[in-house]
Amino acid sequence: MQTGFDIDSLLRFTPPGYLCERCYALLVDVGRVVCPVYGVQYIATDRYPMPDEYLRAKGLDLHYKDLIEHSQALARIARKTRESVMSPYGQYTPYPPIRALFEALQNAEKFVHFTTYGISVLILGALKLTAQRVDVRGIVSGIKHDMVLREITEYHDEAPRLKLQVFPNDSPHFPHQKIVVIDGLLAFKGSANLTDFAWRKAAQGREVIEPVTDVNEVIDLHNRYFSPVWAHTRSDERIVMI
Ligand SMILES: [Zn+2]
Repeated sequence: MQTGFDIDSLLRFTPPGYLCERCYALLVDVGRVVCPVYGVQYIATDRYPMPDEYLRAKGLDLHYKDLIEHSQALARIARKTRESVMSPYGQYTPYPPIRALFEALQNAEKFVHFTTYGISVLILGALKLTAQRVDVRGIVSGIKHDMVLREITEYHDEAPRLKLQVFPNDSPHFPHQKIVVIDGLLAFKGSANLTDFAWRKAAQGREVIEPVTDVNEVIDLHNRYFSPVWAHTRSDERIVMI
C-alpha cells in the first residue's frame, strides 16, 4: 500500500511569507521585527504597527495564488531532476538539468534570486524573459567576456525587473556557493555556474546540481548566501515603517 499523506505534516510547512526590504531575506515570521540577516529593525509607526502590513504595502509579501498547487509544480521539477541525475554516467538523460532550470524559471510566481560565478548569454536571455513577469535578482562575479558584460550593463530597459549586482573578478567578497532560488520554495545548489556549458556538463555528471525542496534548507541557503551579499554591509540600520 502506498504510504498515506498525513495532513499533520502540513503544520510543519512554514514557507516564507515576506522578503526583507533591505536584503530580501526570506522571512517566515514577521511577528519578529528584526531581520535575521543583518539585524535590520523595523520600527513601528501608527500607520504600520507590524511589519507584515508594511511589507505587503511594499509588494514584498509572498502570498501565492495556490500555494499547494504551486509547491507541487516545483516539487515535480525537483523530482524529475533527481531521477535524471541518478541515471548512470553516460546514459541518455531524459530530463537535463538545464530543462529543469528553464521549467523552474517559467513556474516562478514571485521572484528568482541567484548567485553565480560566471553567466552565459543564453541563461541571461532566459532570466530576461522570466523578468518580464517576476523580479529576478542576481549576484554575479567572474565575468570574463565583454559580450556578457555588455549584455548585463547596456540593455537594462529590455528587462527592468532583472536586477544584477556584478562583482569584480578579484573581489574577495564574491560568494562561492552557487544557488538559484525560486519563490523561496525550491533551490538549486551545487558547483555549476549559471552557464549553459556548466548546466549541460551536469547532465553528464561532470558538475553537481542538486535540487533542494526542504523549505527550511531553501530559506537557510538563501539567507546565508544571497541576502548578506546583496545588502553588502553589516549595519544597524532601522527601517521606520512609514
Ligand atoms: Zn534583511
